[in-house]
Amino acid sequence: MNPLKKNYRIILASLIGLCICFAMHAQPKVIAHRGYWKSEGSAQNSIRSLLKADSINVYGSEVDIWLSADGIPVVNHDATVVLNGRKLTVEETTADILKQVKLANGESLPTFEAYLDAFATCKNIKLIVEFKTHKEKAREDELTDKVIQMVHKRHLQNKVEYISFGKNFVEQVLKLDPEAKIYYLNGDLTPDELSAMGAAGLDYHYNVLYQHPEWVKQSHEKGLKVNVWTVNSPEDTQKVIDLGVDFITTDEPEIVKQKIEEL
Ligand code: MG
Repeated sequence: MNPLKKNYRIILASLIGLCICFAMHAQPKVIAHRGYWKSEGSAQNSIRSLLKADSINVYGSEVDIWLSADGIPVVNHDATVVLNGRKLTVEETTADILKQVKLANGESLPTFEAYLDAFATCKNIKLIVEFKTHKEKAREDELTDKVIQMVHKRHLQNKVEYISFGKNFVEQVLKLDPEAKIYYLNGDLTPDELSAMGAAGLDYHYNVLYQHPEWVKQSHEKGLKVNVWTVNSPEDTQKVIDLGVDFITTDEPEIVKQKIEEL
């Protein structure tokens, strides 16, 4: 054989070997669920939890948002809050009243605008915005429209990704910003179906992926990414790493990071 041709083949084989090796050891990235809220002085979905997530070298920090009764995007996980002993439905309450709610660390419940302004100061993380499912499609559309505008106004579109249990949000986000990345949470669509919708990937509970481990490979073949929630133990972290996921969403970012670093 021509020695040049032989060398070329050896180099090519080495490169392929390197690529396979890299793919086998590709490490998942960590997303702090509702921020790094278990850190000192923090609380779920607080601005402090966002800034703490930025300080520990994770990929992203997740946050939940709703539209208030007067059309202001606000940050909260649950559909209800308690103020002065009264239970209030977030989407039926005005932002002025919602801002009176205190989080566990003493911060006021933030508007999404204030949260996004704090995020603009973050150096290391992406913001993963979860659109909560509302009672009416029109209000979901209004929330999507306002959030996309706020993100674009601050030129943060490359630093913000979206997730939702609602198919409507997947459609609306992509209608308003075809370049945006949105992942679907509800666990009931196959990679083929998500690819057809234009989603960036799936973001499913780990039990869904334990039942459908083939969805990881199928997603990757379609160019989709796989995120998994909410993985908090070292054992489940190892299991989802073995499945080949791209992102791990967790309440324990330090534990999950340590487990990944031990690989
Ligand atoms: Mg969430």
